Amino acid sequence: MHFRRLPIYLLLDCSESMAGEAIEQVERGMHAMVDELKSDPSALETAWISVITFSRYAKQETPLTELVQFQPPRLTIRPGTALGTALRLLTDSIGKEVRKTSATQKGDYRPIVFLFTDGQPTDEYQAAAARLRAANPRLANIYAIGCGPDVDSDVLRSFTDIVLNLKNMTPEGWRKTFVWLTASVQSTSIALERGGEGKPMSLPNMPSDTLEIAPPSSGYRDPRPRQVFLYSWCEKTRQPYLMRFIREEYGHLYNAAAAHKLDQVETWSGEETSPGVNTDQLQGVPACPYCANPIAAMCYCGALSCAPLDPNAVVTCPKCNISGTAGPSQGGFDVRGAEG
Ligand SMILES: [Zn+2]
Ligand SMILES: [Zn+2]
Repeated sequence: MHFRRLPIYLLLDCSESMAGEAIEQVERGMHAMVDELKSDPSALETAWISVITFSRYAKQETPLTELVQFQPPRLTIRPGTALGTALRLLTDSIGKEVRKTSATQKGDYRPIVFLFTDGQPTDEYQAAAARLRAANPRLANIYAIGCGPDVDSDVLRSFTDIVLNLKNMTPEGWRKTFVWLTASVQSTSIALERGGEGKPMSLPNMPSDTLEIAPPSSGYRDPRPRQVFLYSWCEKTRQPYLMRFIREEYGHLYNAAAAHKLDQVETWSGEETSPGVNTDQLQGVPACPYCANPIAAMCYCGALSCAPLDPNAVVTCPKCNISGTAGPSQGGFDVRGAEG
């Protein structure tokens, strides 16, 4: 005899465009959600949680874990948005972890999946999406939540009917979203305890200033990336950061928008991702988020680091340890950007 569990899968996009506030808010929201659920007797009895992240690959950070034992993982930014790989991993994980009904016992409740993404898939996702759609709604209730202007809601509708748009990406918007997710899990677990299985789920009302049913996508999509990312390292602290450039609406130039501290990186440059951009197209440089150095310099080894304005100041490359003066920025050299 065992309790029937309510499995909850969080699928989190950890691509470069999520760097900075978005990823921090997701981590914060996850902690708040778990703390709240742990104080709820119904959720405590039924909810089990798993976290899958995706960027250029997908990874199950936490296998399906009893709520009491669950610790939210740290999220790491990486290039790419391998949505198809993530959907396959989700399907496989549900197949492995969720107990099926057999002749002798009732299986787990149907899993709830909350997926957050802010970009276009960078892999072949269609087959995985079609497989997931064919298995639904038996397999899981999937809530796909698109965040920001780069999401194509039709891509999300290729594997679920429940496609939402997070229209308010402020800290308050993220907070309300996770409060709503938490309330949805709570009302689901209570309904299931009262024998509500098989009935349509009635979820709490969405905060209408924050979440909406995603409208169909507009059709034409500009093939050029809206954002470009470059990895750089602080020459003083030797810690990595990500420089964000955003394309002008009518033009081909990308303006420096922000620099985000990174916990760790798995690469010294965006070499495995496309597309390449020419630094001629980049306007300005975001200041180093660690030491506020105002410019960036590229070493002969290809690594970027922050640098002081003084052209005679000696900078030591955080990658190859060769020292030199940063000199005036040459411009026009090709650097490989990454589209997240
Ligand atoms: Zn620095
Ligand atoms: Zn170097």
